[in-house]
Amino acid sequence: TVRLRYAPSPTGHLHIGGARTALFNYLFAKKHNGTYILRIEDTDQARNKENADVGFMNGFEWLGLPWDEGPRVGGEYGPYSCMERLDIYQRHTDQLLAEGKAYHCYCSEEELEAEREELSARGELPRYLGKCRHLTAEQKAAHEAAGRKATVRFRVPDDHVLKFHDMIRGDIEFESNGIGDFVIVKSDGVPTYNFAVTVDDALMKISHVVRGEEHLSNTPRQLLIYEAFGWTVPEFAHLPLILNETGKKLSKRDESIVQFIEQYEELGYLPEAILNFLALLGWSPGGEQEMFTLDELVEQFSFERVQKSGAIFDSGKLAWMNGQYIKAADLDRIVNLAVPFLQKAGFLGADYDRAWVSQFVELYKDGLNAVAEITEHAALFFDTEVAYDEEAKAVLGEESVPTVLAAFRDKAQGLDEFTPSAIQAALKEVQKETGFKGKQLFMPVRVAATGQVHGRDLNTTLALLGREKVVNRLTQLVQ
Ligand code: GLU
Repeated sequence: TVRLRYAPSPTGHLHIGGARTALFNYLFAKKHNGTYILRIEDTDQARNKENADVGFMNGFEWLGLPWDEGPRVGGEYGPYSCMERLDIYQRHTDQLLAEGKAYHCYCSEEELEAEREELSARGELPRYLGKCRHLTAEQKAAHEAAGRKATVRFRVPDDHVLKFHDMIRGDIEFESNGIGDFVIVKSDGVPTYNFAVTVDDALMKISHVVRGEEHLSNTPRQLLIYEAFGWTVPEFAHLPLILNETGKKLSKRDESIVQFIEQYEELGYLPEAILNFLALLGWSPGGEQEMFTLDELVEQFSFERVQKSGAIFDSGKLAWMNGQYIKAADLDRIVNLAVPFLQKAGFLGADYDRAWVSQFVELYKDGLNAVAEITEHAALFFDTEVAYDEEAKAVLGEESVPTVLAAFRDKAQGLDEFTPSAIQAALKEVQKETGFKGKQLFMPVRVAATGQVHGRDLNTTLALLGREKVVNRLTQLVQ
């Protein structure tokens, strides 16, 4: 059976890279009617952040990537966070110690550092040379008596070739000789990532391990642990790096690029746009299609079509894609998302005219790349003063203007209802009366009422402005 997991370390916010890894795990699991598991890998206690796990889970719920097993939902293979599994690691450590496949190491940080420096100076790979490999019972007792704390190291066999198949990269080989006996349990009794991840993947019967390329070099260590326990080795897939637009590895600290899922939520991105975009970060189905629902992604996804080389993160494309999804979305949904932005910007209070807001959002929905941008269009309708720029002033300086504005103002004052259709009819009458039509008619009205030469549908814009504002603005320009 197919079982995949995403195993974030709760050390920060959900990053687009993590979200992509989760998505690829999810897609493959669903495609093969398998199980998708969320596991919290919290062994690095110094770097853990409080509630980061909650942030991850909320992020996945918002994105629409539910997990079949894991925190909040449970499952047969729990618990689903490492710090709740210490007894399990302990049992497995004891087994390796008993079989001589692991040993206690009493080397101090200073001794290890000196060893690393010496190896580097000789141009060799810094690694542990095995000083504590063959300690006698007396030597151990002496260390213990001296109050030294032990780590547990894995005894790496010599001259061993570690082979595995990566679903993206093909066959990969590592030599065991360069690895050095590595720590599997720290002196505080907490396992290291490599040990915990292997024990968890094996006991949770993970069939495919899908993760970022940065973990490729950890894989041989994990293979050694699978071998030591006689466990079946899963399939692996190491996803390509995510690069910035200059082709360099994306740095989480680069604040010029929005990189965290929460930030996208705050800007008014739609989760399905993000999933669609993330799917194409390293995967492509071949062909022209760019817009995919999650179901289509599940159907079409395969690791054969994931590239080895880095995937460029093009934020412009993400914005464009989000715009496409906003355009296609139900008006009501976008209105619901827009209201908090308009309230926060001070344009709307707690009580607002839903019909008005709906019409307003509808007018601008098609041009939005993020719902937050709706506030850029609101000032026009709420500010009392209109600012006329040079282009606008040029329009207002034309000869036809006073006649057109005065005629339209008078018509506007006489209308029963100030609706788009009534306004359209009024403009027709102004055309008949004054003889001005087309641009000569509409431009002065638009510019006088909005201060802008360009804009959305004029009748709707005027209706949204309301009769009072329109009449006042026109009156300021003609007697
Ligand atoms: N906790 C690791 C990470 O966040 C998971 C690596 C793995 O999937 O093995 O990168």
